[in-house]
Amino acid sequence: MKRINVSITELVVGQDVTVWDTRNGWGQGGIVREVGPTGSLVIVDPIGNEHSFDVHIDDIAFEVEVPYEADECLDFGPECSGPVENRWTGTSQGYQRPRCQHHGDLHEARGRRISGDYPDSPIAPSWFDPEYAGERWDDDY
Ligand SMILES: [Zn+2]
Repeated sequence: MKRINVSITELVVGQDVTVWDTRNGWGQGGIVREVGPTGSLVIVDPIGNEHSFDVHIDDIAFEVEVPYEADECLDFGPECSGPVENRWTGTSQGYQRPRCQHHGDLHEARGRRISGDYPDSPIAPSWFDPEYAGERWDDDY
């Protein structure tokens, strides 16, 4: 899912929305309970409190979560398959990036190979065979 800005006329009851006061960066998340024809909005936050807004104020913005489009996969191409979602990039920084199931799996597998099978450690991983190329795991070069 990704977050996009919408206008009040696009909001529907039951939708998960964040209402932003853009002057001071204050935001309130909740589920839309009521969208009034006169520009009033009522949302219910996760602990059940109602919040009413007069959305005639210009500085109010609305943000909702929507699914990614299929072609928003970072590696978009003919191999893409499955839904595009924010997925772990395979790096230790833990970045989330939109990729389809196929490309997300590829990146995660690569990340696991790098961080799991090539640990930055003087102890050789179990697959390392010193006879194979006459190398030692902890060589200094
Ligand atoms: Zn893809």
